[in-house]
Amino acid sequence: MEPLNRVKVEVRNVTLAYGSTPVLHDVSLSIEPGEFFALLGPSGSGKSTLLRLIAGFKHAQSGQVLIGGEDLSRVPPWKRDIGMVFQNYALWPHMTVERNVAFGLEERRLPKDTIRAKVAAALELVGLKEYGDRRPGQLSGGQQQRVALARTIAIEPKVLLLDEPLSNLDAKLRMYMRAELLALQRKLGITTIFVTHDQEEALSISDRVAVLDGGIVQQVGTPMDLYDHPANRLIANFVGTINLFPASIRDAQHGMVRLTSTALGEITLPRPQQLPASGNVEIGCRPHAVTLFPADTTFDRRHLWLQGTVLGREFLGEFVRYRVRAGETDIVADQAHLAGTTAFAPGSAVSIGIQPGEVRFIAG
Ligand code: ADP
Repeated sequence: MEPLNRVKVEVRNVTLAYGSTPVLHDVSLSIEPGEFFALLGPSGSGKSTLLRLIAGFKHAQSGQVLIGGEDLSRVPPWKRDIGMVFQNYALWPHMTVERNVAFGLEERRLPKDTIRAKVAAALELVGLKEYGDRRPGQLSGGQQQRVALARTIAIEPKVLLLDEPLSNLDAKLRMYMRAELLALQRKLGITTIFVTHDQEEALSISDRVAVLDGGIVQQVGTPMDLYDHPANRLIANFVGTINLFPASIRDAQHGMVRLTSTALGEITLPRPQQLPASGNVEIGCRPHAVTLFPADTTFDRRHLWLQGTVLGREFLGEFVRYRVRAGETDIVADQAHLAGTTAFAPGSAVSIGIQPGEVRFIAG
């Protein structure tokens, strides 16, 4: 199969409501040609509605959808050159794999030889060349998912839309399939929009991610942007885990700001441009920026130091996630686990070291 023409997808100022229930509020997104783009958000945030709007199955009260620079707001789904893969695969159980993949091509009334060639190419691409004669019921979940993908790419759409395509697979297979999906997308170079509520899935395979909540695009960025510089508290909590500490600004000068926080005491940080010179703010740090030491450790200058007690711990394989209490504040601390490292037992007194360079301002 030839690499496809890469197209840009734009959503401009879309507002959509079901009756009086608003679902998408003034949503604008620009997805670059060939990009693997995720729509991430909790259940009910409007992701599927936005995907269906791009596909043409939904209509907005206002705004536009453009594909390859062309306004498609009035173009029906079947004329949009879009391929969509659903969570439940929607395969025909009574048809062979080959017939399932051929379905969209037959509907387009292509010559039989062309159909045969395209079906073979699509099945080869997803690694199911030998499975053409089987029925979906004779395949594993992962293989069924690949048939659904083959069927969609066989029609050579300009844009690939994926609605939670991996959520029916078990955890191991899901990780394997997401790498395969990305490899396939890269091979075809097709602009791909992927809906998921799973942050790890979104962060691990996307070029960029839009986080939706309450029908509003909260932030768009690369996975690392979202993690390192979350635009607000909601994103900070949704993309990964974060410790948040209320703080008040004491003074700001020479590009630095001095704060006091009940949890962290006095701390000086680089001052972000929009930060006011006084008032209350929130600062935060990720759990892996917090290190636990035995309680009698001598403090160094590389950390902010607190004293605390271990409340609980979860062994997660690569690391142990501790919940510790320092004064009135609960802190989550992830400690890398290597064979032979001792774990702190619940109830132990610990010294808590926080890397100041990892502390950030978090908007409300
Ligand atoms: P997500 O994909 O993020 O889970 P959806 O786009 O499916 O979210 O839904 C967004 C909101 O729109 C939800 O509050 C949902 O209840 C509502 N909704 C979805 N479909 C309909 C519909 N056909 N009629 C009324 N409300 C709907």
